[in-house]
Amino acid sequence: MSATLHFEVFSLFPEVFEPYLQTSILQRARQSNLVSVALHNIRDWTYDRHHVTDDEPYGGGGGMVMKPEPIFRAIEECLGAPPTCPVILLTPQGRPFNQKVAQELAEGASFEQPKRLALLCGRYEGIDERVCEHLVTDEISIGDYVITGGELAALVVIDAVTRFLPGALGDPDGALDDSHASGLLEYPHYTRPAEFRGWRVPDVLLSGDHAKVALWRRQQALLRTYQRRPDLLINAPLSAADRKFLQQLDAGKWLDTTE
Ligand code: SAM
Repeated sequence: MSATLHFEVFSLFPEVFEPYLQTSILQRARQSNLVSVALHNIRDWTYDRHHVTDDEPYGGGGGMVMKPEPIFRAIEECLGAPPTCPVILLTPQGRPFNQKVAQELAEGASFEQPKRLALLCGRYEGIDERVCEHLVTDEISIGDYVITGGELAALVVIDAVTRFLPGALGDPDGALDDSHASGLLEYPHYTRPAEFRGWRVPDVLLSGDHAKVALWRRQQALLRTYQRRPDLLINAPLSAADRKFLQQLDAGKWLDTTE
């Protein structure tokens, strides 16, 4: 039986993946066949004596560029020509990755209809543009900064997408409350002890009153988002009560929301 979602990863450093994939939620998701990851070393598709995968850029300048031939050979041999699944290049020039994109990539994956995604990791100055033009079908950036290789970015994508597969999280509703799932940041969490160094957990959380707890959490999520990421409020689905609460925040009446 194949996994619900199967990742085909193409990289020059595939050895960096396993330690992370063998941990926690990803390990369990792999064991229960929700997700599987095949790691391919692009260097295995070089046929010259020194297994060269990069070369100097045409036009001069510093750094090296990943050659097209080994990448085309690797992907076409594993996925067909043209590839039978999306080929996603990790690049700082791609569309911004967020919770919505993660959900979109997880969508449609089921045991009856397993889904396959290929992730291509760049190194050095990047990849010969002909790969982007003629092989890659999607480009994703994990943020407006540059890291050394696409491997960390691919792990970020695999992790965030896996969390959306039904059964991947211990708590089936866990992903729904997560920050960004509903357009808001998540409310704060507390655990035992109820008092630590004189700092008490908000009384409402100890009250056993589920309705009050739910209201407090909603208002904390609104407050946090308002304070830290007010830009998110523009697109967040808000009820009339949410809007009223936010209007009160704007009026400066938000200092005590624990009751
Ligand atoms: N010279 C490239 C540029 O300015 O667009 C950056 C190359 S970067 C040093 C090497 C590789 O790391 C990239 O090809 C890409 O695969 C990966 N990478 C770097 N930053 C990334 C980001 N923000 N998101 C996704 N991948 C990234």
